[in-house]
Amino acid sequence: MITKIITEEHIQKAKKYVGYADKIVIITHLSPDGDAIGSSLALYHFLQELDKQVNVIIPNAFPDFLKWMKGINDILVYEDFPDIAVELLAAAELIFCLDFNEPKRVGDLAPALLDAPGKKVMIDHHLNPGKFCNVTMSYPEISSTGEMIFRFICRMGYFELINKYCAESIYTAMMTDTGAFTYNSNSPEIYSIIKELLGKGINKDEIYAKVYNNYSPERFRLMGYLLYEKMKIYPEYKTALITLSGEEIKRFNCKKGDTEGFVNIPLSIKDIMFSVFMREDENLIKLSFRSVGDFASNIFASDNFNGGGHLNASGGEFQGKIEEAVSLFEKVLPNYFQ
Ligand code: 5GP
Ligand code: MN
Repeated sequence: MITKIITEEHIQKAKKYVGYADKIVIITHLSPDGDAIGSSLALYHFLQELDKQVNVIIPNAFPDFLKWMKGINDILVYEDFPDIAVELLAAAELIFCLDFNEPKRVGDLAPALLDAPGKKVMIDHHLNPGKFCNVTMSYPEISSTGEMIFRFICRMGYFELINKYCAESIYTAMMTDTGAFTYNSNSPEIYSIIKELLGKGINKDEIYAKVYNNYSPERFRLMGYLLYEKMKIYPEYKTALITLSGEEIKRFNCKKGDTEGFVNIPLSIKDIMFSVFMREDENLIKLSFRSVGDFASNIFASDNFNGGGHLNASGGEFQGKIEEAVSLFEKVLPNYFQ
């Protein structure tokens, strides 16, 4: 049995919008991950079954490990075609905001999103949703936005319209936001949904291999280097830190996505319960946080690094040099273990 988590009123209101709208835009967050792309493509395939004129817009490029997904080449990248993206948003009668809670999460697209006259529906699972949508479906207890898309489509009464590509996209979203069902994945309903997706003809083993067994040799050389030379352990705080500088990114010829998942690796070390990865991007330091148990990585992120996210998986950023970010990290870390 799959329970009705999403409020009926929200389902009916969004269903009415879908009924009226012909031009629909789906938009998701900056540096889109598997859940952002998976949930967007799932909704895209579904709305195509309803014969809608639908466009998916993302602020910047998607990672290489999602290249195989059906419909991925139909996605419009704002960084490559800013004018078209802004025009599409302005012309849309309905805009779905997926996997993000605040306009700033779409980066430079935020003003165009806020100015767009179309109805807006948020489907998301991050804490503290902003008030910029006509319908806000925000359920942090659901482990992926992809799972919410499945629930949304079914609750509108359209289960039959979930085709194989839609099902594949939902599965990819659910799988990537739970580390292949290794965290945030104890809800039995996840597996009831997967049963339905398998019934739609997806090959879950193949999807796993396409996403996780598809890395470049450069990624593995970089991983070896980082684990051997750059991983610092703070045993008294059961914490691990890995840093990657801009110079190292160049030296190892890293591409976007090559560092995906690195932050999870130290959690496999006995007793480690908090793992941090810092990467030097163009002009800021991007941080990823992962924890196990009830250590609130998102509070650590928002307290110190202008970030947020989920209890066990969050992120943030730092303006300055990577050494300064490390200093700040080491200064505040003890405060969380008193
Ligand atoms: P990741 O480490 O995979 O980039 O991000 C993990 C989680 O943290 C994601 O759910 C993402 O939404 C959230 N997150 C990442 N970076 C930021 C950030 O700068 N600000 C906020 N509020 N959340 C973030
Ligand atoms: Mn997500």
